[in-house]
Amino acid sequence: MTATGPSRGSRTTAQRKVLISGASIAGPALAYWLHRFGLAVTVVEKASALRGGGYPIDIRGTAIEVVRRMGILQQLRDAHINSRRCTFLNADGSELIALTPSAVAGSVEGQDLEVRRGDLAAHLYAIVRDDVEFLFDDSIDTLDQSEHGVDVTFRSGRRRTFDLVIGADGMHSQIRESLFGPEEQFHRYLGYCFAIFTMPNTFGFSRELTMWNAPGRAAALYAVGANDELHAFLNFHQPQPPLAALRNPEAQRDLVADVFAGAGWEVPGMVAAMRDADDLFFDTAGQIRMPRWSHGRVALVGDAAYAPSFLTGQGSSLALVGAYLLADALAENQDHAAAFDAYERGLREFVGMNQALVGNGSATLFPTTARALEQRNDMLRDLATMPSASARPAHSALTLPDPVSTP
Ligand SMILES: Cc1cc2nc3c(=O)[nH]c(=O)nc-3n(C[C@H](O)[C@H](O)[C@H](O)COP(=O)(O)OP(=O)(O)OC[C@H]3O[C@@H](n4cnc5c(N)ncnc54)[C@H](O)[C@@H]3O)c2cc1C
Repeated sequence: MTATGPSRGSRTTAQRKVLISGASIAGPALAYWLHRFGLAVTVVEKASALRGGGYPIDIRGTAIEVVRRMGILQQLRDAHINSRRCTFLNADGSELIALTPSAVAGSVEGQDLEVRRGDLAAHLYAIVRDDVEFLFDDSIDTLDQSEHGVDVTFRSGRRRTFDLVIGADGMHSQIRESLFGPEEQFHRYLGYCFAIFTMPNTFGFSRELTMWNAPGRAAALYAVGANDELHAFLNFHQPQPPLAALRNPEAQRDLVADVFAGAGWEVPGMVAAMRDADDLFFDTAGQIRMPRWSHGRVALVGDAAYAPSFLTGQGSSLALVGAYLLADALAENQDHAAAFDAYERGLREFVGMNQALVGNGSATLFPTTARALEQRNDMLRDLATMPSASARPAHSALTLPDPVSTP
């Protein structure tokens, strides 16, 4: 596969060995670039295979340039969901307004992309799987850093030594926990919890999102194609994070059912489907904010270091851009400390702008009071009369370092 982009392996001396933990978006993207720059890469993933599923994700602005340089822009354009409309409903199920998806998301029609999360993960995996070692069904047990490298013990009992270890293991990163301390120190809770699962499309929805709102509660059904499956989403305001429920799927189901008791539209059927779902993904809406993204020979990338929350729709884009900049910094600097500093210098402002898209926690699409819901509805009516959405500056605020052509 051809891609425009740097290939800087020739600038390095001994081939550095890098272990990446996590094979979702940030991990394989970083693996791709590090391999292109001449490093030897191993990726360890705790799941037994590449994980599909999840709500569709957006790739916007600077991240579009990253996937173009990786040579997968056309495949992702082919996978673009291209929804027809977003329909907003009142609490009684009546229609409030129908809008184009780009007007709602602040995406640029014809440029920004929305794809199934599993499609993006699969495309990233496909371009690295032959060049990079993948260890599925395993994870890092212990890390022992010295001036010469990092001795790693895996859960499986393997022992290996790497020059560098990178945590791309998501919002609840184990690597972050083991080196930097408990998640609570870095997690900024945004006041919402959400449950995502799939359910049968018995409604005849096709390439469209339908969202029901009441103060503090939202329910959405998303038909991404013409197949029989819907992505269901139940989001609710909860002033304090439900810590006990986070590790207990039955408690999560009970909490969601309690919160949505008595709700209108198709919500009772959604709650019943959630009870039976075998792919329930429940989490809090939150951000990870850290003063440093590296510790010695270990650094973090993607959600592990700077999760922006689904409320920004920028998690995957930040993961792609972060992976590119971290690899670029490692290609430019043989000294890992200098590389990690350059990575932070290059990315921090971009991360800050994108995390700031959620404001002070009051998410525009999920108002928590009747008055805020009225204001949200007025805003949606205004959107309907605007000519077309303009891109949010935060999405494209970073210019990637110049590509160096492959020798
Ligand atoms: C199955 C799945 C479904 C998702 N669904 C949604 C969604 O609906 N909405 C949304 O906003 N975001 C969702 N996300 C998160 C979204 O992918 C990220 O916000 C974004 O793409 C940034 O990706 P990331 O690679 O940094 O982190 P993530 O996508 O979270 O990936 C982290 C990876 O690390 C692996 N991992 C975790 N711990 C370990 C460990 N100890 N050892 C080895 N591997 C480990 C995980 O299995 C995962 O593959 C989902 C993620 C996954 C994995």
